[in-house]
Amino acid sequence: MAHTQLEEIYTRLYTHFGQQQWWPGDTPFEVMVGAVLTQNTNWSNVEKAIDNLKRAGVMSFERLSQLPVALLAEYIRPAGYYNIKAGRLRNLFSMIRQQYGGSLDQLLEEETETLRQALLSVKGIGQETADSILLYAAGRPVFVVDAYTYRILLRHDLIPEDFGYGEIQELFMDNLSSDAGLFNEYHALLVCAGKDFCKKTSPKCADCPLHGL
Ligand code: SF4
Repeated sequence: MAHTQLEEIYTRLYTHFGQQQWWPGDTPFEVMVGAVLTQNTNWSNVEKAIDNLKRAGVMSFERLSQLPVALLAEYIRPAGYYNIKAGRLRNLFSMIRQQYGGSLDQLLEEETETLRQALLSVKGIGQETADSILLYAAGRPVFVVDAYTYRILLRHDLIPEDFGYGEIQELFMDNLSSDAGLFNEYHALLVCAGKDFCKKTSPKCADCPLHGL
């Protein structure tokens, strides 16, 4: 049942929005940085912060991890909460240095669950950010859950109100084939539906591709 409904949601969203080809980022490192910067803000602000880092020529692990934290915060200011996010990036870089000898290649080759735990051990990196890095930077078949996912499933009675991150993630991962490409598109499409139609207040159901589901 859940399998059929999840497939139907995907088909309708894909038909309406088309292929999304996430994540916008030139390298896995850039995706990783973007995943931290996008916490509590929209992507256009993240783009400005990433542009600053690129223009300054510091968008690499070697350069960015050496940057004084105050300067890092200044570059990423457009993404908001810049002091907090600079601290989080520094925490992430410390973990990469301590557990992977500063090698992104080693990190990206790590076994999925071990890497997930390593990312979650970083202060300021929660499940959504860790899974975004796993899926979009490391190409692992891990489903990313966000507030849009929760809202859309809840409004279609596919989950109870008290379902948490892990339970929603399991619902997708138990009922869909373990395919990073599919999970990549599916999450991106849910974000499109959430932004364009399934708004927190006054959802635009009549125009939404999931209307009547
Ligand atoms: S806007 Fe309405 S139809 Fe669309 S996903 Fe939300 S609840 Fe469903």
